[in-house]
Amino acid sequence: MLDVLVIGAGPVGLACALEAQRRGLQVAVVEKGALVNSIVGYPYNMEFFSTPELLEIGGYPFPTFHYKPLREDALDYYQRVARAENLALRLHERVLSLTGEQGNFVVTTDKGQIPTRNVVVATGFYDLPNPLGVPGEDLPHVSHYYREPYQHVARRVVVIGAKNSSAKAALQLTRAGAQVTLLVRGPEVSDAVKYWIRPDLVNRIKEGKITAHFNTTIAAIRPDAVEILTPEGPREVPTDFVYALTGYHPDEALLGRLGIEPDPADEARAPLFDPATHETTNPGVFVAGTVCGGRATSRWFIENGRHHAQLIAAYLAAGVPA
Ligand SMILES: Cc1cc2nc3c(=O)[nH]c(=O)nc-3n(C[C@H](O)[C@H](O)[C@H](O)COP(=O)(O)OP(=O)(O)OC[C@H]3O[C@@H](n4cnc5c(N)ncnc54)[C@H](O)[C@@H]3O)c2cc1C
Repeated sequence: MLDVLVIGAGPVGLACALEAQRRGLQVAVVEKGALVNSIVGYPYNMEFFSTPELLEIGGYPFPTFHYKPLREDALDYYQRVARAENLALRLHERVLSLTGEQGNFVVTTDKGQIPTRNVVVATGFYDLPNPLGVPGEDLPHVSHYYREPYQHVARRVVVIGAKNSSAKAALQLTRAGAQVTLLVRGPEVSDAVKYWIRPDLVNRIKEGKITAHFNTTIAAIRPDAVEILTPEGPREVPTDFVYALTGYHPDEALLGRLGIEPDPADEARAPLFDPATHETTNPGVFVAGTVCGGRATSRWFIENGRHHAQLIAAYLAAGVPA
């Protein structure tokens, strides 16, 4: 029987596993996709906002040639750490539910059952996009995940949203020769856009390289156009492709099946947990990383979420119930 099963092989799940293993606990990590699956899904060559030392886990230096690491640097770094620590990885195995109690849990996956004394849930938020809730959202030319610009050269692309991901996608697409229209619900490009990206986008809009509609909502998406409601009235934006980069949210149904309750006092529906140990109201079930913020997906990220690992591992090592 395992002492700890970590669900999710993101940066924080890996940090939790290695910290627990270093304290002599029997640990495995179960992951529904690839190692660091969320980062695998990020745009190619994406530059992290954080400098490398803030993304480090387990005390391993993160060497990068650039000031800020790229997606590929991070993929390589985390796989090296997982190998160096000889972590037991069960990849491409999706967790479905949890039964039992602390000291005697059974985690059911799509491949079988895993007995474990404790569970750390580090499942992030990147799998479920926030829906626009408009007709046409499921059409094949609509995506919630931007990867690279070159399939859109000399094509018309609508980008919905005005935070970091939309800003970076709009700029990259424009520079690769796409005709970009940015649709923004608020009155301007969000202040949350990083200080070195925002002026670039604002200036490209000013000089007319990117068309932007502010205070605008989406009415419907058709195969050839997006129907929008602007302060000047309804409009149509002809388009070949739509990126709806409106954020993501954790799998609340899964959290429920793992016996994790949301905090009724938190608008973001973050899990209820003890901040000193990260144990939830289901004893023996812990939460770590971005999932701790519920729908407030920028509350916890790698920089601050990686520190959950030491708290949880120290608590577990002090007395894993037999
Ligand atoms: C474009 C972008 C840029 C970012 N840049 C930065 C940055 O510069 N600095 C920073 O600190 N943060 C950054 N972040 C945020 C950061 O990437 C996330 O906060 C980070 O991935 C959180 O790590 P995590 O381990 O908590 O979750 P994740 O990395 O999301 O890992 C969760 C894992 O759980 C797995 N999983 C989910 N459900 C199941 C299941 N049922 N069974 C098994 N496995 C499951 C998922 O497949 C995933 O691999 C960025 C985010 C994005 C989207």
